[in-house]
Amino acid sequence: MNVHDTERITGLLLDAGWVQALENSNPDLVVFNTCAVRENADNKLYGNLSFLAPRKKADPNFQIAVGGCMAQKDQDSIVKRAPYVDVVFGTHNIGSLPALLERARIEEESQVEIKESLEHFPSTLPARRHSAFSAWVSVSVGCNNTCTFCIVPSLRGIEKDRPAEDILREVRALVDQGVIEITLLGQNVNAYGVDFGDRGAFAKILRDCGKVDGLERIRFMSPHPRDFTDDVIEAMAQTPNVMPHLHMPLQSGSDRILQAMRRSYRRDRYLGIIEKVRNAMPHSSITTDIIVGFPGETDEDFKATMDTVEEAQFLAAYTFQYSRRPGTPAATMPDQISDEVMKERYTALHALQQKVAGNVQEKLVGTMQEVMVVDHEGRHDQERSRMNGKTPDFRLVHFNVEAKNSPRPGDVVTALITTATPNFLIADGLPVAVRKTVGGDAHEARTKELGPEPIMIGMPTLATLKLKMNN
Ligand code: SF4
Repeated sequence: MNVHDTERITGLLLDAGWVQALENSNPDLVVFNTCAVRENADNKLYGNLSFLAPRKKADPNFQIAVGGCMAQKDQDSIVKRAPYVDVVFGTHNIGSLPALLERARIEEESQVEIKESLEHFPSTLPARRHSAFSAWVSVSVGCNNTCTFCIVPSLRGIEKDRPAEDILREVRALVDQGVIEITLLGQNVNAYGVDFGDRGAFAKILRDCGKVDGLERIRFMSPHPRDFTDDVIEAMAQTPNVMPHLHMPLQSGSDRILQAMRRSYRRDRYLGIIEKVRNAMPHSSITTDIIVGFPGETDEDFKATMDTVEEAQFLAAYTFQYSRRPGTPAATMPDQISDEVMKERYTALHALQQKVAGNVQEKLVGTMQEVMVVDHEGRHDQERSRMNGKTPDFRLVHFNVEAKNSPRPGDVVTALITTATPNFLIADGLPVAVRKTVGGDAHEARTKELGPEPIMIGMPTLATLKLKMNN
């Protein structure tokens, strides 16, 4: 969601006359689009701001803006701690950024503007997308759940669903521009429809996207097990271009901890869903998110998580050490877990998941996979170079290509998987087939227009835009 917002911020600023600053040049503006999910994002932001302070002192025309969830959370305190910041804007009003920058310049004063509810759906704003062939489309923003560890609802507000016709219009427009892969996005994507009273709305959106000519791959993230209904599994299985991959947060394998987290499903319900998904789509993969060290987590609770990981056979699990976020109910719960125990459990869980993932990956050795090319890797000799891409079920594949005749990002290759590791697959031989796609055409056209420079320097917790005024 944060990275998608950054695409919107970039699009807005380009429309307002800013241009991308080249790497290692002095930008006229730096925008931090922050995330507040984990504590270290705070430290990163203030560290980055103090790094820029001398530049701001030397050149008052240089501007700094801070947006995103941390801005929404800290509001005025950002300019108290870093008075040289020109603009602070929230998650609900990213569309105001160009005007706020202009006002800060004219009035020579910091501008702080935070709205408590959404002004525009981000998707109605211009965007400069990170990829020419793969795009995110928001179906909803906000969340009606109250997970006790999570700061998102207080920063992104309650769930707001976008009308289905707007979503489909955006999907069709993207496909017309050469996009062949869409990821439908929402904090709780499968609750889509709750706003207008249609529980089947998410399955319908999947089926409707499935009818868009030219759209090869549809993905979505992140669903909540509570709202995961059988009609979504049927829609996934019956719509050929909905990919056989489900990323569904587990968070804990202990019912007691799930209850304390206010996650309104239990371990058996979670395992029941993935069993149904696998029955309907035998070649599907499941990935998840898990938090270790939630307050009150006992050895027994942690063992329940380990057992669930073993049983669920996840392709990947994004594991996090519980991060105490002020303002959330879990922050003041008794029995906070020590860093030492948290690290120990994290290490044990990571080791187990690596073993599980190794086994899951191994099953694909010797199979042919359709890989949508993502990027070059810069490793090459006279004859061969290395590229990577994604299988339909979201596995990363590294493969070799002829240096002189390589496919383009966005094209699709068929490759024989020769080696498995927990985190990626390898296809050592050359692809047996290369299919040029309109996504590849779109990538090629964009590279000609913009050059290979990325428009955005993104990190998981902090996305930074560096821009120059177009004089
Ligand atoms: S469902 Fe996700 S976004 Fe909503 S409160 Fe829970 S963790 Fe946060």
